[in-house]
Amino acid sequence: MLEYEKVPIAIIGGSGVYDPKIFSDTKEIKVYTPYGETSDLITIGTVEGKKVAFLPRHGKRHRIPPHKINYRANLWALHELGVKWVIGVSAVGSLRMDYKPGDFVIPDQFIDMTKGRQYTFFDGPVVAHVSMADPFCNHLRKIIIDSSKSLGIPTHDVGTYICIEGPRFSTRAESRVWREVFKADIIGMTLVPEINLACELQMCYSTIGMVTDYDVFADIPVTAEEVGKVMNENSEKARKLLYEVIKRIPEKPEECSCCNSLKTALV
Ligand SMILES: [Zn+2]
Repeated sequence: MLEYEKVPIAIIGGSGVYDPKIFSDTKEIKVYTPYGETSDLITIGTVEGKKVAFLPRHGKRHRIPPHKINYRANLWALHELGVKWVIGVSAVGSLRMDYKPGDFVIPDQFIDMTKGRQYTFFDGPVVAHVSMADPFCNHLRKIIIDSSKSLGIPTHDVGTYICIEGPRFSTRAESRVWREVFKADIIGMTLVPEINLACELQMCYSTIGMVTDYDVFADIPVTAEEVGKVMNENSEKARKLLYEVIKRIPEKPEECSCCNSLKTALV
């Protein structure tokens, strides 16, 4: 097996949130996994003296749609690098009027409406059922929420993320169900199974949902130009936020329940 240097922090996000200005000593590496290829090469660099890995979820040229991402390879590779903290960054739609385009949401719950992905590393003969009652790392969520608020970014510190299969968007009827029946707050296509797999590898995972627009329930026509503008502004805010979060992540993390997720999970 190859030996990789230890990297404690990883960011999985769109290439727009990668800020080459804050990374020094960067290099790109390929990590081999039993699950095949990661979305792209992984960039490793130093930020404020800490090693950070960056993995573009859809590939550098955004060629991999949400349902085709090799989530298992991505998470396995980060774990191989010794990653303890995983920060997911993704664009989301809003299912409520007070979560506005340009706002950031740090969800505390999710609902999985995906249909056919590779959800687990435990396909047998070893069987595990990890707890998902509180799926996000509360420790990491707090660091992100505090950092985001300190930068003046409009931030919602709770929310339920509904993950749909995609790549199509919801129908009006579906959007109403997500909002009125399921009481979800934001909608996206990539959280699951990224979070499940991080949990199975006992890594601390939290996500930053950047609201780009209202989902179709709102019936507010938007142009691609408007959405593009919000996305660019969101990426800029995310770059600043990630720098602040990395600064605040402790060198020696306290033990949290994420690290022990397999203790009661193995059958
Ligand atoms: Zn944790």
